[in-house]
Amino acid sequence: MSILPILTIPNHLLKEISIPIKKIDVETKTLIKNIKKTLYFHNRCVGIAAVQVGILKRIVAIDASRSAKEHRNNGLLIMINPEIVYFSGKISSREGCLSVPDFTGYVTRKKKIEIGYLDINGCKQHLKTDGFESIVLQHEIDHLDGKVFLDRVSSLKTDVFRR
Ligand SMILES: [Zn+2]
Repeated sequence: MSILPILTIPNHLLKEISIPIKKIDVETKTLIKNIKKTLYFHNRCVGIAAVQVGILKRIVAIDASRSAKEHRNNGLLIMINPEIVYFSGKISSREGCLSVPDFTGYVTRKKKIEIGYLDINGCKQHLKTDGFESIVLQHEIDHLDGKVFLDRVSSLKTDVFRR
């Protein structure tokens, strides 16, 4: 297993749309192991999308339990081809990202979401979540669509802060 380097803006790959996984082969499984290792290598990192390590495949790994904030969560989640199938409500919070190391910013997202995805065995799964875990998942799924949180802030002047 290896810790993979994280791409940072303005790397052009971070603007690309990632491709759905058709077959979970050995290569995909190795990539997932390495993404997991990379996630836990970075202190307080709660999520990584494959594109952040330079691979344009629709895979995200999150672990909302690593945040100091108190909230319900499901611990480590690996999602292949995740899709938000239902959402409601709104929630704003300050977000950061390994790919945007110098800034944090206020972003408004869906409060409750339901996601359909494949697990590492290729089985269809469905997850309902809200609050912090929901925010983390939306942040990571944005990466799969070529977006970083800076693309979501309403004002670069008032809602973005230098670390
Ligand atoms: Zn990010």
